[in-house]
Amino acid sequence: MPGTFYVTTPIYYPNDKPHIGHAYTTIMADVLARWHYLLGDDVFFLTGTDEHGLKLQRAAEKAGKDPKTFVDEMASFFKKYWSLLNIGYSRFIRTTDEDHVETVKRALTKIYKKGLIYKGVYRGWYCTSCEKFYGEGEYLEKDGQKFCPIHLKPLEWVEEETYFLKLSLYTEKILKLLETKDIIYPREYAREIISKLRREGLKDLSITRPKSRVYWGVEAPWDPNHTIYVWVDALLNYLTGIGWGRDEETFWKYWRSAHHIIGKDILWFHSAIWFSLLDMLDLPPPKKVIVHGFILVRGVKMSKTIGNVVRIEDLVNEYGNVDAVRYLLMRFSTLEKDMDYNPEQFRQAYNAELADTLGNLVRRVGVLAKRKAGGIVERPNSLDQELERKAKETLEKAKKLVDEVKLGEALVTIFDLLREANAYLNRTEPWKAENPAPILYNALEAIRIASIMLYPFMPATMERLANALGFKIESFDKACFGCWEKYQVKEAPILFPKLR
Ligand SMILES: [Zn+2]
Repeated sequence: MPGTFYVTTPIYYPNDKPHIGHAYTTIMADVLARWHYLLGDDVFFLTGTDEHGLKLQRAAEKAGKDPKTFVDEMASFFKKYWSLLNIGYSRFIRTTDEDHVETVKRALTKIYKKGLIYKGVYRGWYCTSCEKFYGEGEYLEKDGQKFCPIHLKPLEWVEEETYFLKLSLYTEKILKLLETKDIIYPREYAREIISKLRREGLKDLSITRPKSRVYWGVEAPWDPNHTIYVWVDALLNYLTGIGWGRDEETFWKYWRSAHHIIGKDILWFHSAIWFSLLDMLDLPPPKKVIVHGFILVRGVKMSKTIGNVVRIEDLVNEYGNVDAVRYLLMRFSTLEKDMDYNPEQFRQAYNAELADTLGNLVRRVGVLAKRKAGGIVERPNSLDQELERKAKETLEKAKKLVDEVKLGEALVTIFDLLREANAYLNRTEPWKAENPAPILYNALEAIRIASIMLYPFMPATMERLANALGFKIESFDKACFGCWEKYQVKEAPILFPKLR
C-alpha cells in the first residue's frame, strides 16, 4: 500500500569536508528514499548541515572568517559531494536557515511557557569538539589531566550561568516508551538506552550557553544573553524540514512516517533526549530510528587523529564510477556491527559482482540481441518458468530485506537473480540457436527486473542500462516477468570495466 515515507540523515557538522562516513549514512538514506519512491510512496528526504556552536565559531576564527561566510563555504562543499554521489534529497536544510531559526524559537518558547526550563549554574569538564560535558567516569585521565574519550583532547573546566531543561521528569515516560514500542532499530541498540535510563535516569540538560562565550547560535527567546545549545537546535531540524508550525498538513503527512538514520554514537541524543523534547512539544516520537555502526578501516575506527580517514574522491577515483562506490558501501553495510572497509574485499566484489555477474550478462545479451535479432526482442508465447519464478521470488525477498534495512543482503539476493540468468544463458546457448530471440527475451526480463531493484543503489547506471537495452524503470508494479512487450536494444554497454 503506497503511503508516505520521510527519511532523514543527521545534519552534519561542516567543520571539514565530508568523508565516506558521511557518504555511507547519506547513501543509505538515498537508497531507502528511492526504494520507497519505486514502491509508490510519497517520499521526503531531508539532509543538511548543523551550523551553530562553539566548534564552528572557533574553526571560523581560526580560518580568519566570520562564521556565516565560513559555514556558507562548508555547506556548499557538502552539496557538491552529494551532487557527485547523486543524492536525491528533497531539501538540504541548514540550521542557519531563517525558517529553522524560527522553529527553534517557537519550540523553545513553547517549552519555556510550560515551565520546563529554569536558570542555574553549570560546572563541569567540557569538550568543545563534542560540544558536550563529561561527568566522572566518562572522561579519560592521564597525569592528572582530563581528556575527551572520543577526541583524546584535554577537556576544559567550564563554570557558568545556564538554563536547564527539566529532562529528569521524563525518565519513566521514555523508559516505558522504549520498552513498549519498537522505535529504535535494530532492537539491540534500544537495550543499551534502556539500561542507561534504568541505571542513571535522565538528568536535567543545560540547554543554553552565555552569549559572551558562544555567540554563534540561536538567541534564547526569553534571555538575549544566552544562545541555544547546538544539540537542541540541531534535533529540531527534523521538524523544520517538513514545515512544523508553518504548514501543519504537510508536517503531519510526513511526520507519521519519520525514519531517522543515525550512527550509534548519537543514539542517546536521538532517543532519550529527542523523544523527551518531542513530548514537551506534544508531538509523538518518530516511527523509527535506524542505527548503524561505525566504519572501520581494516579494523580501526576512522578518525582524523589516527589519519586513516577515507576520502570520497579517493574511492570515486579508484573505481572511476560513483555508482560502484554507492554499491560497494551498501554491499558491505550492516546495522548491528561496524562496517569494515577493506580495499581488497571491495575490489574483489567490484570485479566479481559488478564487472562479471552484472557487466558480462548485460554485454552478452546486448551483443547477441544486436547481432542475431537486429536489436528487436519481443515477448514470446511462452516464458521460462524457472526464471520467472526466480524473478518473482527475488523481488519479494528483496522487498522484505530492504524493509529490514538489510541492504547488503538485499544486494546479494538481487545478484542471485543475475547469476541465475547467466546460468540460464549457459544452459540454453542462444549463440547456437537459430532463433535466439525467445531466450534473449527471458534474459532481458531478468535484467530489467534486477535493474528496477538496483536502481535505488545505482540510479545513473541503471538509467544508462535501461536506455541501452530499450526499456524503462518505473515502479515495482512493473517489475513482473513478461510485462515488457518489446525491447529495442541500441547498444551493449560495458557498465563496469574490470579492474586489475
Ligand atoms: Zn570530544
